[in-house]
Amino acid sequence: MRLRLLAATALLALASCNNSKTASAPATSGVTDAMIANAAEGEWLSYGRDYAEQRFSTLKQVNDSNVGQLGLTWSADLDTARGQEATPLMHDGVLYVSTAWSLVKAYDAKTGALKWSYDPKVPREKLVDVCCDAVNRGVALYGDKVYVATLDGRLVALDQKSGKAVWEKRTFPADSHMAITGAPRIVKGKVLIGSAGSEYFSRGYLAAFDAQTGNELWRFFTVPGDPSKPQEGKHLDAAVKTWSGDFWKLGGGGNVWDSITYDPVTNLVYFGTANAEPWNPAHRNTKGEGDSLYTASIVAVNADTGEYAWHFQETPEDRWDFDSAQQITVADLTIGGQKQHVVMHAPKNGFFYLLDAKTGKFISAKPFVEPINWASGIDPVTGRPNVNPDARYEVTGKPFVGMPGAIGAHSWTPMSYSPLTGLVYIPTNNTPQLYAPDPDWKPGTTGFQLGIDSTLGNVPADKKVRQATRAAMTGALVAFDPVAGKVKWKVPYPMPTNGGTLATAGNLVFQGTATGEFNAYSADAGKKLWGFATQSGVLAAPMTYSIDGEQYVAVMVGWGGVWDVSGGSGVSSKITPNISRLLVFKLGGKGTLAAAPPSAKRVLDPPPVSGTPEQLALGAKLYSNSCSVCHGNAAIAGSLNPDLRHSVALGNPKLWQQIVHDGILKDNGMVAWKDQFSPDQIEAIRFYVVKRANEDKALGDH
Ligand code: CA
Repeated sequence: MRLRLLAATALLALASCNNSKTASAPATSGVTDAMIANAAEGEWLSYGRDYAEQRFSTLKQVNDSNVGQLGLTWSADLDTARGQEATPLMHDGVLYVSTAWSLVKAYDAKTGALKWSYDPKVPREKLVDVCCDAVNRGVALYGDKVYVATLDGRLVALDQKSGKAVWEKRTFPADSHMAITGAPRIVKGKVLIGSAGSEYFSRGYLAAFDAQTGNELWRFFTVPGDPSKPQEGKHLDAAVKTWSGDFWKLGGGGNVWDSITYDPVTNLVYFGTANAEPWNPAHRNTKGEGDSLYTASIVAVNADTGEYAWHFQETPEDRWDFDSAQQITVADLTIGGQKQHVVMHAPKNGFFYLLDAKTGKFISAKPFVEPINWASGIDPVTGRPNVNPDARYEVTGKPFVGMPGAIGAHSWTPMSYSPLTGLVYIPTNNTPQLYAPDPDWKPGTTGFQLGIDSTLGNVPADKKVRQATRAAMTGALVAFDPVAGKVKWKVPYPMPTNGGTLATAGNLVFQGTATGEFNAYSADAGKKLWGFATQSGVLAAPMTYSIDGEQYVAVMVGWGGVWDVSGGSGVSSKITPNISRLLVFKLGGKGTLAAAPPSAKRVLDPPPVSGTPEQLALGAKLYSNSCSVCHGNAAIAGSLNPDLRHSVALGNPKLWQQIVHDGILKDNGMVAWKDQFSPDQIEAIRFYVVKRANEDKALGDH
């Protein structure tokens, strides 16, 4: 009894110690909070440039009258041939970038000379826990250090001068199914980072770590834990009432995988949360409906303590993968004659939201893409969507073709806001998606945990249907007036998942495209003024800086990301090869790129079809729900991951088992699936892929 009391006292002491953890003093030299907040004109010190994340530069040496003279001044070939999503940072003449697999590099920003390179050596088998490629969106600068959060969940502080690791901390256990692809943000001596994983087993959070020591200071969970146990905060006592059943056994989702915005005006940190897990609410809210707080929401917490301030849920009871994790931009807008301090948000669900930054009070939500069919609109008073009854596929029991789809009307590709034009420049997607309930679904052990059946969404082996499907998947650069709630101008693109945007005081908007161009448009009218062939698709957002009176524009190039590796790739595969580079431009730049290698022509040569109709149907379902996320819709892969229709193991059942069941290729990113699939199931998947390869050979679509 006494021992137990002692133990309890010790626990209490530990708990109070946790609550009173204070950060080391904020940086007073190197990169400081004031420098990030005031965003010196020639530098780019934080992921979204400044705390407000407007991605607007006041530099205007390059402008709408001379951008035609913009040329390559230097480029750097990268040693990671996967999607490149980072925004480079520039401080004191040095450009800092992260690349795929969470590597960090520092270049002389004027000459392109490599100063140092750091490789955290992420285990390649971690690929099984990432939906959307081994990407990293950027580093953070603070004091004399550079911070990177790695795909496998480590937060690493590097010395800015040498690139040597000063400390390294795990932000989640090594055996977790979560991953990190986002850029850390740093506020008053605290490094803020969350994680990705709402399609896997994960419980979302935002955590703060001491910038000097790496010690964890606070962790704000976005979804409740086991309802039979005390929750970690009052906000979770409220949230747990919006869930039912065994949701917590899967984790619940709500991951904070991209947006983290600090607002010095309110001293709040705003962040967006991902979808609930699994997608299908019938498998998480088994006792009926519930909003699943705080998923698909914007949440605000006190920047010092991590305490809850407010939340606004954009997609209650999400069932379409409508993450609200997208970039949150703070601005002062004049609405109805009144100046208002607002957060602006363009989440996956297709509506552009304005909220009061201090209180989270709903101001407006207007569509920034069309068509939208999951909701007829947003209630102008409550901000809740008027959901189309057909979109509740778990209720109707019927498939629903949703617009937008899970790729989202807008996802992580950064938008920018120009206070000069009053417009927000949003990279948008038009990617319909079929959602079909799977009433028999049970959680697995490996890979996606969605609760839906993706089999019906496979593109058929029919040339006309494939052409029509390809034509239906598009994108656009949308210039949106947030006050009027209207699209001002638009540049259509033939493909979705084009790059992020940069707005400048030179009346310019820069954006790269999925099809391998880097373009400049007039910010007021959307007129194309300049373009550069990048040889590979662009996902990342450009940035700009100035040294010795010269303005530079930099962008990471390298095709990959969700559209390439996911099911969407079945209709869009191999848009461009991956050629990963950092490109830097200035007026009068005369640089050129080495010629792109010729694309290799491959011809399908599969073994004959085998397997019973039942085995083929089983293989189709297992492939669609577990394999397509990496190897492509209907086994048609993108440019990065192996196209299984061409696999040498197709005609070698033993080798197929060694790869899929035993995991002999785990160091290439293909883990063992023996906990999830039996050898018979794995053989059924082989039968299905052999059939698919034969169909496409007959179709002449190799
Ligand atoms: Ca998601």
